[in-house]
Amino acid sequence: MPYLIRNAVAVFSEAHPDATDIRLRDGRITEMGRQLLPAEDGAETVIDARGCVIYPGLVNTHHHLAQSILKGIPEGLNQGLGEWLASVPYRFWPQISPDLMYHAARLGLYEMLRSGTTTCADHHYLYHRDTTPDMEDAVWQAAEDLGIRLVLCRGNAVEKGSHKGMARHGIEPESIDQVFERMDHTLARHHQPGPDAMRRLVVAPTSLIHSSTPEALREQAAYARRHGLRLHSHLLEVAFDEVQAREKYGLHAIDYAEQCDFLGPDVWFAHLVQSDEHVIDRLAATGTGIAHCPTSNCRLGSGVAPVIPMARKGVPISVGVDGSASSESGSLLQELNLAWLIHRAMHGPDATDLSQVLHWGSRDGARLLGLEQTGELAVGKLADFALYDIDQPRFAGVHTPLMAPLMCGEPATVKHSFVNGQPVVEDGCVKGLDERQLVAEVRQGVRTLLQRVS
Ligand SMILES: [Zn+2]
Repeated sequence: MPYLIRNAVAVFSEAHPDATDIRLRDGRITEMGRQLLPAEDGAETVIDARGCVIYPGLVNTHHHLAQSILKGIPEGLNQGLGEWLASVPYRFWPQISPDLMYHAARLGLYEMLRSGTTTCADHHYLYHRDTTPDMEDAVWQAAEDLGIRLVLCRGNAVEKGSHKGMARHGIEPESIDQVFERMDHTLARHHQPGPDAMRRLVVAPTSLIHSSTPEALREQAAYARRHGLRLHSHLLEVAFDEVQAREKYGLHAIDYAEQCDFLGPDVWFAHLVQSDEHVIDRLAATGTGIAHCPTSNCRLGSGVAPVIPMARKGVPISVGVDGSASSESGSLLQELNLAWLIHRAMHGPDATDLSQVLHWGSRDGARLLGLEQTGELAVGKLADFALYDIDQPRFAGVHTPLMAPLMCGEPATVKHSFVNGQPVVEDGCVKGLDERQLVAEVRQGVRTLLQRVS
């Protein structure tokens, strides 16, 4: 259905900085400007955007939707990454049923849409020797039901290795043959290769250093490049990655990644908190990107990734919320707000600017995912965007309204949003689910989960 959005307070667009109106048809933006008139045939639905600012749909480049039901687990509240992994996500995930995974994914995607996100990369790692396909199908189905653009980063561990969580909870890893067999299945059923894809598969071993082998990683990199897929993983969230890489392979972690064919413009890593000059140089030289996840890094006491020197050297920067078990807000807008602030605390008031941070959270994230048709508001781009309602008391004193949602942070109200030209939030309500019913389903599922987990 064609839409005309009219009379916004402001629109974040480099191509059309003065626009207040957006026309869209067949999933794409067809016109931007001021005082656009509705089509004479009356076919367009006109949306009044008075009191709203419009951002490109935000692009979350690192999430773990399964963790949306594991917020604030008491045992992990004051633990660092290694212990927290064992006592929170790895303790629970072997007991998560496909039904509960579906509710967790809907909850996490609901939180994404509610904060203005239209593309979500989920690093889904709930695979072990006896995994059934319905666990992964639950994630695809949840995205389908809510209409969000989904990039499924297919995690895997092919050995227990130095992963405390796997060893402690008796999780049997997949064989590399299982990984490829199962990925073939996903590739055939879900992956869309085009630049306007709604569904994307990414090859994403959960940890390069702790739960794989050099051979398995090289085979996965070759598989990805053979099929035109991107590569993703966690790297250097904490110093233990570097320690283990030296001990096991006699290499810096970043050089080990390179030896395993895991650097390049088709690769991005979550975290990279412990990046020194050598790491930043290798990332910049190869075009490898980062999913910067400041909330999770603060919450687990891991540190702050040096994205300012990275950006200066040309490393592609994007932002992710990380899983909600270590980033309880589940809001990409809040993540951007923190990214804007935290580097100023460290490097001074001109370390970041608002436009730059908003680009990290939209255009630059989309490019890292290979979805260049989204993340920007311009004629011809995909119609993925969010209308934030700033006609509320907390925004009334703001002198730079375009930046109000990002500057003021949560709670933000997304009044409407569109993915691929389809409305996914209408009058403040996420379409495709009943909030009260979702809460009841999640609570019931969590009760059952707690009974299964000691
Ligand atoms: Zn993560």
